[in-house]
Amino acid sequence: MSNSLLIENGTVLTLGKASKVLRGHSVLIENGLVVKVAPKPAIKNFRGRRIDAAGKVVLPGFINAHTHCYSSFARGLTKARPSRDFNQVLKNLWWRLDSALTTEDGYYSALIALLDSIRHGTTTLIDHHASPQAVVGSLGAIERAVRETGLRACLCYELSDRDGARIAKEGLAENAWFIHRCQLQNDSRVKALFGLHASFTVSDATMEKAAAFGHELRTGFHIHVAEAQSDQDWALRHGGKRVVERLKKFEILGPRSIAAHCIHVNQREMELLAETKTAVVHNPQSNLNNAVGVANVIELAKRGVLVGLGTDAITTNMLEELRVALWGQHLRAGNPSAGFSEVTDALLANNPRIAGRIFGLRFGEICEGAAGDIAIFDYDPPTPLERGNVAGHLVFGISQTQADTTICGGRVLMANRKLALNLDEARVNDRARELAKNLWKRM
Ligand SMILES: [Zn+2]
Repeated sequence: MSNSLLIENGTVLTLGKASKVLRGHSVLIENGLVVKVAPKPAIKNFRGRRIDAAGKVVLPGFINAHTHCYSSFARGLTKARPSRDFNQVLKNLWWRLDSALTTEDGYYSALIALLDSIRHGTTTLIDHHASPQAVVGSLGAIERAVRETGLRACLCYELSDRDGARIAKEGLAENAWFIHRCQLQNDSRVKALFGLHASFTVSDATMEKAAAFGHELRTGFHIHVAEAQSDQDWALRHGGKRVVERLKKFEILGPRSIAAHCIHVNQREMELLAETKTAVVHNPQSNLNNAVGVANVIELAKRGVLVGLGTDAITTNMLEELRVALWGQHLRAGNPSAGFSEVTDALLANNPRIAGRIFGLRFGEICEGAAGDIAIFDYDPPTPLERGNVAGHLVFGISQTQADTTICGGRVLMANRKLALNLDEARVNDRARELAKNLWKRM
């Protein structure tokens, strides 16, 4: 069959609830899904493409549950003034950068982030886009980049009132149009949520309109929540409710919604997040970089909140983010044993659940019926690798090696560390450099 792929000779780390370490097994993918995981001799007369994973580990592809592809062009930017707090970081850097973005910038910055993701075995991204001077068509341009790279992505436009009524209206329309488009397309590659920047940049009137559109389209929302204390201060000053309570009032929370960060939330807000089944996405590297604090992942998990892991665009390497998440929980708790299962679950169990809600596929496990999303890492374990210590090998060993092969929906996107796409990476980088240089001039 032309749509089949057989991965053989590797050590298969199935992950998932029944997490197993399988040696001498092959993984058969057909039409985008894993159809068989069996001892090598059990798969006979195979005629499709074979991937030899000898000396390597075979894992489910990673999911980045919160990122911003548009920030690719911030690399090496020296023009931003030093900031004293998070609001200054937004004003001095991100809002200056995103306000200068064109649609072509959006497309190329997405390509850069997506190609990087492939290089790190990340196969699904949940993105949050902003380009206030080029709102209309921005999500379509990112979608084109996603389809050209063969990954999966869930996109949204980050609606806010910070640029006035006309641009807020465009943000509402771009979200609604793109959600409708994805529903019509109904494929498992590109999905949408309704994007909002954050509570403190969205007025009651705009929040109400967004909620109405979102509910009519039966979609979830993707919003930054209590990233800094200032978000809470604003919410309390405007209406007397805390951020999560305010979002609850507008019915923005729910099992299809994502609340990124949730650092400065209290116990009642954690309960509301759990009750409404809202997913929280933790982004430790970004939070440390912005000096906004470390989310209490242990407490959130204890209260039954589904906590996933994102990078907020600091990296596309989920294992790097996992490590920092772990150090952050240790530091926060003042305990070098705290949070191991909570943060490894965030990446390995909860991100697949969050993506599963959006894409309607089984992720995070190599088993029959799961998405054919696979990352193969060049890792020949120098210590015993068994069922009970896979997460330890991921944090301390596999994270220190390189992704060798990345497969999404049965399509090989990189093999032997070489991209296998109809894209010329050098030309993409050339054009990106040119665009970034012009963007920096406009800032
Ligand atoms: Zn973010």
